[in-house]
Amino acid sequence: MSLGLPSRLPGTPSIGALIRGETPTFSFEFFPPKTAEGERLLWQAIRELESLRPSFVSITYGAGGTTRDTTVAVTERVATETTLLPMAHLTAVNHSVAELRNVIGRLAGAGIRNVLAVRGDPPGDPMGEWVQHPEGVLYAEDLVRLVREAGDFSVGVAAFPYKHPRSADVESDTRNFVRKCRAGADFAITQMFFDADEYLRLRDRVAAVGCDTPIVPGVMPVTRMATIERSGQLTGAPFPPALLRRFEALAGDDEAVRKLGIEVCSEMCARLLDEGVPGIHFITLNRSTATREVWQQLAPSQVAAAA
Ligand code: FAD
Repeated sequence: MSLGLPSRLPGTPSIGALIRGETPTFSFEFFPPKTAEGERLLWQAIRELESLRPSFVSITYGAGGTTRDTTVAVTERVATETTLLPMAHLTAVNHSVAELRNVIGRLAGAGIRNVLAVRGDPPGDPMGEWVQHPEGVLYAEDLVRLVREAGDFSVGVAAFPYKHPRSADVESDTRNFVRKCRAGADFAITQMFFDADEYLRLRDRVAAVGCDTPIVPGVMPVTRMATIERSGQLTGAPFPPALLRRFEALAGDDEAVRKLGIEVCSEMCARLLDEGVPGIHFITLNRSTATREVWQQLAPSQVAAAA
């Protein structure tokens, strides 16, 4: 079924095509703000990062569908008021298929043609019971189909280097990942991770079952000890023990923790680029400084070009 949306707007690039291009993409992820101060910080970060000329930026969709309007509004504003190419995240939590179609239609109406289709987590507790909306979809795979059927979108999905915390084992996790690629995903972006080998293992097991969907690593530098705790909640995996010891030795010295975080993130990104990753996606938490610092370590020529 098609919503009868126009085909891709002239001049709106497909992120899937960019990621399959010859040079790695660099992209930044933001979340929709909840307060006026949050909005100020978001737009400050967007303006500061715009000069780095990222390949695209993405705007998350609040847990439980709570930011439906702000996600659409921020993504639309990025499209109309900046030089950036935006991608909207979309989740299935608490939405009927009719509501999802409505959001997809609004995105298309705003000229957004790139969507990251993720299932979403229940609000509050990411590991809480996932309850399907009575008229909604069950898995990201179904959401991918819905977006695809709605018009000429480039669709991305989530990937999990440590496996998704709800998956019983890496085999079923890989199988289910490949299902959403075959349902029409053009590319994937990973959950954050702190050991390049975890990403490489994911890439190998997906390739081993004959799936060539490009998987972009999602990275976030540790800037505070709290980042380490948060990563455990999101990934369901322990932080790499040897690296944890290096951070723990500095706990109490905020500046030293931050400096080490930038250093190890830059080293990991450099290794990933050497390994031929299709791009790097930075989770910015709506701040520009840490991302900018890692970027400067990685891409001096691009920084010079953007200056
Ligand atoms: P799915 O692919 O549906 O997988 C969920 C679980 O179900 C997995 O264990 C999987 O193995 C299993 N599964 C999948 N298909 C089947 C099947 N056919 N049969 C049996 N089991 C199956 N959350 C938000 O709320 N907003 C966001 O904006 C957001 N952005 C994200 C961006 C990235 C890059 C990533 C990595 C995650 C993001 N998330 C976001 C979090 C994401 O919504 C959660 O991790 C969610 O729990 C899983 O989403 P998914 O799309 O991978 O789900």
